[in-house]
Amino acid sequence: MNAEDMRLLSACFGLPENMAITSVHPTVLTLTIDLACSDSTACCPLCHQFSERVHSKYQRTVADVPCGGRRVLLLLTVRKYICHTCDCPRSIFTERLPELVQSYARMTNRLRQWIEAISRAASGEVGARLAEHLGMCVSPTTILRRLMALFTPPAGTVSVLGIDDWSFRRGRKFGTILVDLTTHAIIDLLPDRNAETAAAWMRLHPEIEVVSRDRGEDYASAARLGAPQARQVADRFHLAKNLTEIVEEILARCRAEIRKASKGTNPSSEQQAEDQEPTAAFDPRPSAPDPLAGSAHLAHHEERSDRYQQLLELRKEGLTSKEIARRLGMAERTIRRWITRGIPYEKAELRRKRRNRFDAYLPYLTERWNQGERNGQCLFRELQAQGYKGGVGTLYRFLRSLRGYVASPQARTERAQTIPETPFQQFSAQTAVWLFVRDPSDLEKTEQEELAAIRQASPTANTVYELVQDFMLMLRQRKGERLDTWLENVRKSQIRELQRMVRSIERDKAAVLAGLTLPHSNGVVEGKVHKLKFLKRMGFGRAGFALLRQRVLHAL
Ligand SMILES: [Zn+2]
Repeated sequence: MNAEDMRLLSACFGLPENMAITSVHPTVLTLTIDLACSDSTACCPLCHQFSERVHSKYQRTVADVPCGGRRVLLLLTVRKYICHTCDCPRSIFTERLPELVQSYARMTNRLRQWIEAISRAASGEVGARLAEHLGMCVSPTTILRRLMALFTPPAGTVSVLGIDDWSFRRGRKFGTILVDLTTHAIIDLLPDRNAETAAAWMRLHPEIEVVSRDRGEDYASAARLGAPQARQVADRFHLAKNLTEIVEEILARCRAEIRKASKGTNPSSEQQAEDQEPTAAFDPRPSAPDPLAGSAHLAHHEERSDRYQQLLELRKEGLTSKEIARRLGMAERTIRRWITRGIPYEKAELRRKRRNRFDAYLPYLTERWNQGERNGQCLFRELQAQGYKGGVGTLYRFLRSLRGYVASPQARTERAQTIPETPFQQFSAQTAVWLFVRDPSDLEKTEQEELAAIRQASPTANTVYELVQDFMLMLRQRKGERLDTWLENVRKSQIRELQRMVRSIERDKAAVLAGLTLPHSNGVVEGKVHKLKFLKRMGFGRAGFALLRQRVLHAL
């Protein structure tokens, strides 16, 4: 090849103009390129004087970006020069090729940039596999090292700050995420959610004018300490979230009321069901006064108890587990578990122990039952022979519960058809709450009907609906001036769960008012938290928080 061909070849590989290729050796997997600098002089790095006197040459192997699916190795001939400056301490120096490769580096600048790009988009392991696929040979450790080495410029000026927490280590450890609500960019991550850490960060940003935060005390005091000049906003996302949680609690508590009000048509079976003793040795209603009364926990227990009552009623009618599961909108497995063990209630420790003692004999009993043994006394003696220490009552209750299985499948199907399906048989507070908080104009026709039926069935639900919609309207249209009237209406309603919200709003009123008036909201921050969780899942843990921060701030 002549000099012109060589220059052309050099251009094809995208090498700097002063690099001349002398030969190319392709194999199946690699491409080895011999090359050298074509400049006739070099500059001493200490005294900055040029020299043309070559002292010696040596060869360096440098990895480059792949070409045509092949790994590329550059065999670089590097020259050493003699420095002419008399008092220069560096009498011999090596020519520098900053456009191609840094001193002592084992990969070219452009290969490093490719690997940095991979490190910003993928975890160490995935990145290494991807790189191999693309014709680069790089270890997971190198990928992480490149990510960690990326320079993170300090956060610029931020006038509207969104702050929130996010959980790493599955809800056991929390960090803080900071978002610029003007540019929607994540500005920083902090390793905890302490007020002092966040305040320290804010102190470095005296330009902050607005801090949009959740309803917790930590970030409120962080803003008071770190950005006293800023106006605090209790953001709308968290206000809506608080309200949604409370409404769900109320609906869970009112489930029985809603279901029974709509029923009316079949009072006899209901009466029977209430007289009947629950199947397993289990009472869904806690007998002692409960310290958790009025809590979300209790409300959800009430909802489950009501479902359990429903189950007992349908079982009494002789329906199969499968049919009950369909009507209640629950998994058949759960229905079967509830039938044999009742619904678990955390406080009923003793009862659970007694039940567990009996549960060990369930497989044996079921087998004997299937073999056709129906005599209770006989089965009781057999259990005792196997070491059963419990009473005969538990056994009898269990046997009574098995009776539902006796009828033939056909008889059961016919039976199921005669028992009317009732409205709200699948009522779930978790689902219904969305009918309450959404904009009514967004609801489908069937949803509107369902909502109207719920409101008609329960006066509490009806009152709650009106209050919720008032609040959501205030939120959507930012009519903070209506807040006082709303608080007054809630007080008058005497719905106990909502009183809690009133008290919490009163404690934080200026910020809530700002949230209902100003345009800022942490909806953006929540979106960022989701992105963060995604990044966390793809390879977090090798270098902990520092790595995650780097990954988030440099994410592609
Ligand atoms: Zn020199």
